[in-house]
Amino acid sequence: MLILPGLVDSHVHINEPGRTEWEGFRTATRAAAAGGYTLLVDMPLNCLPPTTTVAALEEKRGAANGQCHVDWMPWGGVVSDNQEQIESLAAAGAPGFKCFLIHPGIDGFTMVNEKELRAALPHVARTGLPLLVHAELPGPVDAAFMISLCREYRFRLHIVHLATSQAMKLLRAAKSEGLPVSVETCPHYLYLSSDKIPDGQTLFKCAPPIRIRENREKLWQGLQEGVIDLVATDHSPCPPEMKRLNKRSFRTAWGGIASLSMALPVMWTEASGRGFTLADIARWMAEGPARLAGCEKRKGRLAKGFDADFVVFEPEAEFITTEERLYYRHRVSPYLGEKLRGVVKATYLRGNCVFADGEFPGELGGRALRL
Ligand SMILES: [Zn+2]
Repeated sequence: MLILPGLVDSHVHINEPGRTEWEGFRTATRAAAAGGYTLLVDMPLNCLPPTTTVAALEEKRGAANGQCHVDWMPWGGVVSDNQEQIESLAAAGAPGFKCFLIHPGIDGFTMVNEKELRAALPHVARTGLPLLVHAELPGPVDAAFMISLCREYRFRLHIVHLATSQAMKLLRAAKSEGLPVSVETCPHYLYLSSDKIPDGQTLFKCAPPIRIRENREKLWQGLQEGVIDLVATDHSPCPPEMKRLNKRSFRTAWGGIASLSMALPVMWTEASGRGFTLADIARWMAEGPARLAGCEKRKGRLAKGFDADFVVFEPEAEFITTEERLYYRHRVSPYLGEKLRGVVKATYLRGNCVFADGEFPGELGGRALRL
């Protein structure tokens, strides 16, 4: 067995408070511990209230208190009308912000247009914190829009869940120009491809959608070159009936794939087959996300002075994914029945064992980290 640094997931929808029936701190952090994650960064939407004010952030901290198997942090939201909240959210400990250029698929969190974004960006730039952007536009995908704003306002731009390899050329150019741009993709874009999705199988619905096999291979090349910096899950569960599994309706099904407990074996199965090493995995799934969330001096590496967050990992072991291994609230997954490589045997948070062979020993010791 090998020891890896505790993984950091910079893109998780915990949904509490307000939609705890979808997921919640206790179940999300339990799945995280079982998956080798020791820090989650929670997205500001799908919970109610959304994390777009300091009061909402404090409410979320209250809801999480005493419920967490691993550490967590809250992203703040940038929405159409909360520009005045941005710097106070930063002062209250948000490690950065998230915004949408399209309707986020749920009420309570508004998308931003160019005018609203321009009103927000000077505040974001002053905080020095990253703005995570769901960068699909209603028209053709136009990454250059966000890149030109990054050039103009010099804020840290992070593109979430890059799914199309078509945007890589622009992102590569932006990076070589020296713009502060970072990029993530998700395990489902690296493991699945559209030819593997049976007709009407809404379990696979996510936003942006899963594309063809050639696209998937180009995303792997993007990771190899460093155009893509990190891999985050975009763990976004919902009650199973919202997946409209019987109706097989992609129009009305909730878009989101939950994978906190499976992301490491999913990634290792694909990465090891392509000649990547566990050092690459640690860079993409621990060090990179820790840097995005501003805790790169404390999380994401095995190093002196860091939190003693470890994963004990058996890289050669194989298993078939079953519901018992999922651990989040609704045990629904497109990975059920898949044969995967690499088993998380145990997870340690600040030196304490929080997961071992299917058990969650000890007290709930996860904390709300503050920068
Ligand atoms: Zn998301």
